[in-house]
Amino acid sequence: DIFLTTAMPANVQINSPNVKYTDTHIVSQYPYETTSVHRDGNKITVTPRTTEMTFRTERNVPKLGVMLVGWGGNNGTTVTAAVLANKLGLTWTTKTGVKKANYFGSLLQASTACLGSGPEGEVNVPICDLLPMVRPNDIVFDGWDISSMDLGRAMERAQVLEWSLQEQLRPQLSHMKPRPSIYIPEFIAANQESRADNVLTGSMAEQMEQIRADIRDFHQSSGVDKVIVLWTANTERFSDIIPGVNDKAKNLLAAIQDGAAEISPSTLFAVASILEGCAFINGSPQNTFVPGAVELAVQHGVFIGGDDFKSGQTKIKSVLVDFLVSSGIKPTAIVSYNHLGNNDGKNLSAPQQFRSKEISKSNVVDDMVKSNSILYQPGEKPDHCVVIKYVPCLGDSKRAMDEYTSEIMMGGTNTIALHNTCEDSLLATPIILDLVILTELCQRIAIRPQGEEDFQSFHSVLALLSFLCKAPLVPPGAPVINSFFRQRACIENVMRACLGLPPQSHMLLEHKLQ
Ligand code: NAD
Repeated sequence: DIFLTTAMPANVQINSPNVKYTDTHIVSQYPYETTSVHRDGNKITVTPRTTEMTFRTERNVPKLGVMLVGWGGNNGTTVTAAVLANKLGLTWTTKTGVKKANYFGSLLQASTACLGSGPEGEVNVPICDLLPMVRPNDIVFDGWDISSMDLGRAMERAQVLEWSLQEQLRPQLSHMKPRPSIYIPEFIAANQESRADNVLTGSMAEQMEQIRADIRDFHQSSGVDKVIVLWTANTERFSDIIPGVNDKAKNLLAAIQDGAAEISPSTLFAVASILEGCAFINGSPQNTFVPGAVELAVQHGVFIGGDDFKSGQTKIKSVLVDFLVSSGIKPTAIVSYNHLGNNDGKNLSAPQQFRSKEISKSNVVDDMVKSNSILYQPGEKPDHCVVIKYVPCLGDSKRAMDEYTSEIMMGGTNTIALHNTCEDSLLATPIILDLVILTELCQRIAIRPQGEEDFQSFHSVLALLSFLCKAPLVPPGAPVINSFFRQRACIENVMRACLGLPPQSHMLLEHKLQ
């Protein structure tokens, strides 16, 4: 059996005068080709532009520490357990046979990129072998939870992994205990209160200082080189944006000192991470990144990314609507039902928390609709309805039912109905790993446009993570891309640029000429 996790990594070397390997860096000269478009009535003038750029990627892969907020939840325990199971190469037996730990569902670990053709035909390599990247098995986890349960018992509470696997993992996981967290009851559902037995006390500023101290403590005591913090705790309600409170970085810092009412725990974690120089990723839908937090990240040159893991229904939506609209078919109604029985579903059964999810699930078709003025008049959108219901006995098995109604040729109607069943946390776990590994890689990439003296890093709002997020956060003024294929091509083509390779064109002209 060849498993991706144990197979020898491919050693990709680029043979080109435009690419140099030094002891510390891969440096590539890259012609970035864009167009500038001028529209005058129905006359459209397109001018191709080439900007020479230098991409520089640090080759030394650091030891990465990841701190999860909500470590004792279904996602937190599943990602920690899955990485340990992979590291130990565990197998377990179920009624359908022997299973082995793997990273299926991870863009970086389990999907491939085509490098081109050789005598044996097309050569595809795992994306994680394109550039030097952190391996998930080497990540060290730590984190916080408002529930004090150790990770062994919390894994059992989550009911995600098979019992015989849990038994093998428990001895190690039961030594992992979440650090006490910031709990402000009004931000999550009232039904979460019974879990909250591991909470910080003191003023808001003191609690945030404790989170900063925790990050420093983990950094030093674990021996990792870098820490990334990721929110996988419960969905909060949206925060109001209040001038003077959270609209500017300086106001936000002052409001935290005053203990202002409208600052959520997730924003406090984001601010603590940014002040510690650690990237912060938001895996839930709420508006953690209030304008003051975004400004703070930019001021400190720290990456932030989000929002909301794109794991199941929305991922399909970003594929299916892309397929329909780019085929010239007009979706007129998208109706999505979910029911699930895990603690996330319980939290989302409260109206304000559901509202956060509804918002993040709703905007996902906007860019595709806007791109096609043959199908949609300005401002026109398909009807889009999202329903989520809590059904306890289903546990982590989430059901998603979608109906896509589209207008086809000559006034005809096409209806596609989907039924999707899967363990939610087993879809979210590989996405969590991709988010932190991609963020870490971006911290080692620097770009210098022609004529400029200094290398620049990506903007603090790391839009490259869009592929992994339901409601992608992008720099102010930048377009939000939801289309699955455009998002994936972006990641692959940026990695190819780091290697001095042209974007993937799929033209295959070598097979199409006489
Ligand atoms: P969960 O309820 O099992 O876990 C959340 C954990 O966060 C719980 O252990 C809870 O005690 C803890 N928590 C709550 N508030 C906290 C705080 N202030 N500080 C520290 N810990 C806190 O939920 P889950 O299934 O692991 O999902 C986690 C989040 O990820 C949810 O917001 C969910 O909407 C989001 N999400 C999940 C998926 C998926 O596919 N699983 C997809 C997209 C988004």
